[in-house]
Amino acid sequence: MSTEKQTVFLSGASGFIAQHIIKQLLDSGKFKVIGSVRSEDKANSLAKNFNKNPNLSFVYVKDIAEETAFDEAFKEHGSKLDFVIHSASPFTFDITDINKDLIIPAKVGSAGIFKASVKYASNLKHFVVTSSYAAINDLLRETDNTYHLNENTWNPMPFDEALANPIFGYCYSKKVAEQTVWKLAEELNAKFNVTAVNPVFVFGPQCFDSSVTKVLNTSCEIVNKFAHSTPETEVDESIKGSYIDVRDIARAHVEPLLDSDKFNGKRLLMDGGRFGNQAIVDVLNTIPQLKGKIAVGTPHKEDDIENQMAVIDNNATKKLLNFEFMNLEQTVKDTALQILKVEGKL
Ligand code: NDP
Repeated sequence: MSTEKQTVFLSGASGFIAQHIIKQLLDSGKFKVIGSVRSEDKANSLAKNFNKNPNLSFVYVKDIAEETAFDEAFKEHGSKLDFVIHSASPFTFDITDINKDLIIPAKVGSAGIFKASVKYASNLKHFVVTSSYAAINDLLRETDNTYHLNENTWNPMPFDEALANPIFGYCYSKKVAEQTVWKLAEELNAKFNVTAVNPVFVFGPQCFDSSVTKVLNTSCEIVNKFAHSTPETEVDESIKGSYIDVRDIARAHVEPLLDSDKFNGKRLLMDGGRFGNQAIVDVLNTIPQLKGKIAVGTPHKEDDIENQMAVIDNNATKKLLNFEFMNLEQTVKDTALQILKVEGKL
């Protein structure tokens, strides 16, 4: 049996989720990774964190909103690629122009890397796109418990409604980015397999302590904000959603590379269960170093949250992946304990 490593191209290698994907790929001993980053600084800091692992290298893709952003990298490396994971996409609500800052990079980025894969990666076996629950869910029905959704559901929001606010815009950007991939796979008659990974809110520790900064990536910031709250902080109901741990998300990107045909054409609806701000605060208050120092809200008010929200059926995903997802307690605690450790509070 050949022990030669297979090569994965991973876009957005500096991202919160992407770093965990790199870690799992390298730890498996089965893969080499070529990660795309926007700057030399990001490449250097990742190389350092991964101990200058010889199986990890970088290319520069400065702005995925450029139609040919991936061409140069794929011209150079395409023929040696076995797998592509497209994870780069703007995930922030701190923007000025919804179309320019969120929708265009998501859509053009997906199209650019997919077309480059078809054109230059002649030996490619599998293309995995990091999509989102946002591409599946009807945001306006998130708290409608008569609304059922599964791996076949699509966010119905039209473009003009998406321009109402950055949250709508982000959700639309993920829908259009994923749709672009499926459409191009058909139109270009792609010879490789395709999978979409559709996570809900992703929590969990940063891959490296050095990434624990004052403000964290958009999803982990929900936990970070309450870990730095005071007993007077109000626990509002602004966030009601679903959680999943980043290590489970990384694994969902790696599994399709290990058993390609099984995952071909699938959307993996990565949902661990429902939560709201109160549930996060309840978990944080079980950590002795935080108890009495942070927001309290109305403890256990959200214990019944599953029954107040749209019903997510992701049994098909769970059956395909066949591993247990981490629970809310574990993912929130691990997120907070890393923050406390870095801040010298443990
Ligand atoms: P991060 O913000 O940590 O990562 C986003 C990555 O995309 C970074 O590497 C960033 O580069 C890169 N990127 C963004 N815009 C551009 C651009 N215009 N040109 C080049 N690169 C760009 O977020 P996550 O790790 O959380 O998200 C990764 C993926 O997962 C995204 O596709 C996101 O939509 C998806 N997702 C995330 C969820 C979550 O809860 N975290 C839930 C569902 C889906 P740089 O570091 O230089 O900014």
